[in-house]
Amino acid sequence: MTLLPKPYADEIVGSIILRGRIHLGLALKPFLRWVYGIENGRSTCSFVLEPALARVAAQCGLDPKELLERHTVFPYVSAFLPRHGAAALASKLLNPRAGQIASTAALAQNVVSSSPFRRFCVECARDEKRRLGETHWHRTHQLPGTELCEVHGVPLIRTGIRMSVSSRVDELSMPPSSAARSTAVATTALPLPIAKTIAETNQRVLNNPLEAAVAWCDRYRTAARSAGFVHPSGELASGSLAGALQAHYGDKLLAELKCEMRTDGTRAWPALLLRPGNKEPTSVVRHVLLEAFLKSCNEDQAAKPKLQRKTYTKRDYAAIDKIAATRLQQRIREAVKTNERLTVQDLLVSAGVFSAYVHGRERFPLCREVIGEFKKSAQAERQLGGREFWRQRAPSRWGLLSARLLTKVDRAHLEDAADTSDKVE
Ligand SMILES: [Zn+2]
Repeated sequence: MTLLPKPYADEIVGSIILRGRIHLGLALKPFLRWVYGIENGRSTCSFVLEPALARVAAQCGLDPKELLERHTVFPYVSAFLPRHGAAALASKLLNPRAGQIASTAALAQNVVSSSPFRRFCVECARDEKRRLGETHWHRTHQLPGTELCEVHGVPLIRTGIRMSVSSRVDELSMPPSSAARSTAVATTALPLPIAKTIAETNQRVLNNPLEAAVAWCDRYRTAARSAGFVHPSGELASGSLAGALQAHYGDKLLAELKCEMRTDGTRAWPALLLRPGNKEPTSVVRHVLLEAFLKSCNEDQAAKPKLQRKTYTKRDYAAIDKIAATRLQQRIREAVKTNERLTVQDLLVSAGVFSAYVHGRERFPLCREVIGEFKKSAQAERQLGGREFWRQRAPSRWGLLSARLLTKVDRAHLEDAADTSDKVE
């Protein structure tokens, strides 16, 4: 007979033990004595990484390896260790020396230090309560930085319950099927896209553990390059990447996850993770934050519209000329009414074709005709040769006695002179 219930998918090991205790209705200490089979046994157990794997696995009818890989945080905490190191660690946990139980406290600390309190999804809990009659704590929800349920896309509820199992009433509890219960502290303040990328990356790390050290460094460097973190010299701009990552997550989240940036630029932790051959041990959550950051940078990059060669539409100058000529005539008529004088520039600006006209007047035959007429009119501001109007009004300027004395011949002569000298436009 097994003492522990069959684990649900993604149920964390502590939750299996807690459910077993509830099913049998025992106090924790005698229950653990049964589970571990030790007289004067333990009064607490691990929530995230069970040390007595073989014993607990046997109690819930699983293979110890299956329990380690599917129901503990071991795949997460060992994900970025060198391959041989992770395998040796797994073997030590699965095959402890006779009479000894391996200590997993230091490994579990990798999760618990950045994620000290349990989280759950209200939707998951409600659904489980309805389907299974009981709720359970999910392994993925407890990973550092995971603030979103991937199944339901809703923010997780943060509780004030520690990630350990002791006789404290709250630590013996299961997720409530309603968020209104006292265990709920808050939901995340993280922007949804950031929470989503972190949750997805955590899930990926959990599903594909045991990555060779070289592979992740190369992968980060490639992703950083394609996200544009490159100096003009071609070197990777790891210092500016570190600054951008800090701005992306904000100091509050980084502090919560124990990933503060204590140094700037190329000595900050994201820059060190990009350095080939760097052997400094680092927490898994830093890998996750860097990977998630690079992923969102590359997605942003892909979403940006590509620069397109500017294309110019062919303009219908004949039509523009016709419209502009009409406008010019209209403006001239107004000037006549108000006895106003205009320059050719004023006119062209009012017709909206000044620039086009001065850069290619051959395309505006109608406008040219109107302007030619205008220049001879009394409304033209520039009167280089002296128009009839001004000759009559100020005859002495042109050495004339008076308009009345001006002969037809003089008039024709003066107009010819005006046309050749007038270069207004
Ligand atoms: Zn959910």
